[in-house]
Amino acid sequence: MADVKKVALELECANCGTTSELTPVLTYVHQGEEKYICMHCLPMLIHG
Ligand SMILES: [Zn+2]
Repeated sequence: MADVKKVALELECANCGTTSELTPVLTYVHQGEEKYICMHCLPMLIHG
């Protein structure tokens, strides 16, 4: 198998676990910690 996997930056949503391959994932910093959140979970983050 000549499966050449390209190295892509894959982020995982801290809330639902989806990856940036499926859904756009944003990076944010909370209390000095870098976290990732996908577009689906972003509204939940905004509304607390
Ligand atoms: Zn999510």
